[in-house]
Amino acid sequence: MRETSSPPLPRIGISACLLGREVRFDGGHKRDRFLTDEAAPFVEFVPFCPEVGIGLGIPRPTIQLRMVEGEVRLRSSRQPDNDYSDAMRDYGLAQVESLADCCGFVVKKGSPSCGMERVPVVINEAGYRSRDGVGIFAATLRQQLPLIPMEEEGRLHDPQLREAFLERIYALHRWHQLEDPERNVEGFIQFHSRHKLMLMGRGDRYYRELGQLVAGVTAAELAQRRTRYITRFMEVLALGASRGRTINVLQHIMGFFKEQLSADDKQELLTLFSAYRMQRTPLITPITLLRHHLRHHPDPWLAGQYFLTPYPEELSPHARV
Ligand code: SF4
Repeated sequence: MRETSSPPLPRIGISACLLGREVRFDGGHKRDRFLTDEAAPFVEFVPFCPEVGIGLGIPRPTIQLRMVEGEVRLRSSRQPDNDYSDAMRDYGLAQVESLADCCGFVVKKGSPSCGMERVPVVINEAGYRSRDGVGIFAATLRQQLPLIPMEEEGRLHDPQLREAFLERIYALHRWHQLEDPERNVEGFIQFHSRHKLMLMGRGDRYYRELGQLVAGVTAAELAQRRTRYITRFMEVLALGASRGRTINVLQHIMGFFKEQLSADDKQELLTLFSAYRMQRTPLITPITLLRHHLRHHPDPWLAGQYFLTPYPEELSPHARV
């Protein structure tokens, strides 16, 4: 992890066991090499272990989600009368303030506390399990801090999912980094403008919709517009970019250089666009080549578009997954 320095790094709340901390029920960990070795220099991790946080200790008896009278509860596996649901929710609520400035959460898959989806739930005395639960701590964070993207460690090994998550994290980080946000009208407008191509990957109408919150904004309205804007902005980013619309954006960018590129250069780009369309390469691959052409054929507006620099290149999945 990089020492705190300027510029600040995105704060990422994370299940402590994923960082190699021996906090699991059996005293072990679930270190994830991408997170500890590759991502760590580019983010500030904010570790949590909610089971330790509510005083269960290390090692500890296992706990599980269990359906009780139509409600999912967090219970001891061996002694189902021991119920930790309220303690876990209260602990989650108590952590909200310290985690509110995070730009993302990475949580441990399958955990009855940290898991964000498909967590097993015991639904009858025979031990039959459904797989539609959400860890109680993760659910509390989601409910209280809905704008902050959340992912599980395993999904981040999928190049597309990793790209989408990084894109959202770093967008929220840029928002947090706006100076003097309650008075910075120009910064607000710039933020919207520089995410134009990223938003167009979701659909032109979203760029226009968000543009209505920016148009004509005054200092007096800024605080209220900002709140509405970032809420909708993060919702729109969470929709994910469609491949078809993203190809349109890539072609639009290529159009900036169309007079300068050779036929071979154009063909090389089109081949990469096609590979991206067919899911044979992540988006960052054609973006990297477009950035190369941009360096040779500068355009200030295009250079300012975060679509081309959505997150640090070192986190790119194309060379590592
Ligand atoms: S999954 Fe969550 S509660 Fe379980 S050991 Fe990891 S950090 Fe602690």
